[in-house]
Amino acid sequence: MQIAIALAAANESAQTQKLGVLELSRERVHQSAEQLYRTKMASLAAAQSLDTDVEFLTKATRVLARLKGQAEVAYPESRDWQWELHTSADPDETAYAMAGGKLLLSLEQIRQWNLSENELAMLLAHEMQHALLDHYRLEYQLALQMFPSYLVRPFADLERAIDEDAAVIAALAPLGKEQELEADQAGWRLARKAGFPTAGLLNFFKKLVKHAGYPNFESASHPAPAQRYARARQWAIAQDDSGAANGP
Ligand SMILES: [Zn+2]
Repeated sequence: MQIAIALAAANESAQTQKLGVLELSRERVHQSAEQLYRTKMASLAAAQSLDTDVEFLTKATRVLARLKGQAEVAYPESRDWQWELHTSADPDETAYAMAGGKLLLSLEQIRQWNLSENELAMLLAHEMQHALLDHYRLEYQLALQMFPSYLVRPFADLERAIDEDAAVIAALAPLGKEQELEADQAGWRLARKAGFPTAGLLNFFKKLVKHAGYPNFESASHPAPAQRYARARQWAIAQDDSGAANGP
């Protein structure tokens, strides 16, 4: 184990260099996310699960372009980002975003939820906001404060722990739930500014409740879907100025 750590520390790549400091740079986090994303996309491609529905990918890319234009206004630093969107046909996959604007959508979820373009905009805007609000870096930093042993280990160990280590996951859960609510609200704002109608955005949250096993209960990582829908209803009431009657 000691030898493995020493070897890893000797390697200077983004994922294996030991952290040493509590303050992680955005570049560091983005670079490492990029490596993980490439590996993930390669494994999806090898399993013939990558971008199998070209028509849907074209639609989603169009929605992303509208949201991205708005994100560049609200978050000027994102102008330099290389946003990327792919889809997975793996039935166990869920939608997610990685630091720096690397996105993955689940074709199974899209099919089951039968998402319209406007509902898809809410899903994408939510995922984009996790990246725009720097949620990953903040999560890593809290993990380093709570588990300082990761300071002398390779970055990849910390990334793995955040996904797989029960103690780390439990310790970060309150922050994660806060970030979900924040991504909902900021995502709603982003999608509205990009011109997507209120009714479609609200309908996304309605489907979230409909497809949840236990809509009134929070999960280990997410707030209760019913709570998220209730909040979105309040935003819809406050903003009912949008041609909402033209929604889906
Ligand atoms: Zn989320």
